Amino acid sequence: MKLALFNTYRLGVVVSDDELVDVTDAVPGYTDDALIAGWWRGLCRDFGSLKPEIERIAANGERIAIDSVTLRAPALNPSKIIAAASNYSAHVEEMHGVQERTLGKVEKWMMDFDVFLKAPSSLADPGTDIVLPFSVRQAGHEVHHESELVIVIGQGGTSIPVERALDHVLGYTAGLDITVRSPADRSRRKSYDTFSPLGPWITVADESVDPTDFTILLTVNDIVRQNVNTSDLIIDVPGIVSYASSVMTLLPGDLIFTGAPPGVGPIEPGDQLDSYISGIGHLTAGVLEGQE
Ligand code: MN
Repeated sequence: MKLALFNTYRLGVVVSDDELVDVTDAVPGYTDDALIAGWWRGLCRDFGSLKPEIERIAANGERIAIDSVTLRAPALNPSKIIAAASNYSAHVEEMHGVQERTLGKVEKWMMDFDVFLKAPSSLADPGTDIVLPFSVRQAGHEVHHESELVIVIGQGGTSIPVERALDHVLGYTAGLDITVRSPADRSRRKSYDTFSPLGPWITVADESVDPTDFTILLTVNDIVRQNVNTSDLIIDVPGIVSYASSVMTLLPGDLIFTGAPPGVGPIEPGDQLDSYISGIGHLTAGVLEGQE
């Protein structure tokens, strides 16, 4: 099942390549005020019990053309966006050259797997534009694309063991972890508004979804920049969830970016980014020059 948010943050089930059904009536406490939309966290936590009613409405409801709606990032007020660093060995390898060029030295501590935070306010809807901050451009820093599998947390938890970690995953979506290459802290370099395009929807985890076998393909202006399979992750999805939950309590609806594949590189105003993840879908983003 694929869950989408659309228009005034209504809940949809994607029922074909180009249609969805509005299943908002299955959600307790719905409001179209995104700022107070605790119903989303409730949905992520209680999806198992809400699923039969969602399926019933999806099977019988009016089908709506996806190209007639505005898709939203499939997340509302997540308590945090967690992101994994240094989680594909070929990316770790390439970062030596990237850091020599952009920092003038190699930061050894940044070459080890770990997790960090991105501001939830950096989320951007599918098909909207990444805005390159004026101050960053003025300073001459590169801004890079990182095209990643994103985990959506269902049932939260603390110190979740690896062998039970997948029980805490609602599903998966695609995300772009847009990143300034500069000496600043990761949380600032990756938290500017629009620096976390997300979507186009969540593929709900079930027995048919194998987190060790997603292919992630990113093109910029139709040229392949990143192409990887999640079988190459250094720390796999259960390992990431378990480790993150050993640092901070995971809450329903939290997002975890799983790490940049090799092939990171600069984006420029006018670029068109297309991220494809097998079994999920196609996330697009444009790039704009920010104003002073
Ligand atoms: Mn990243």
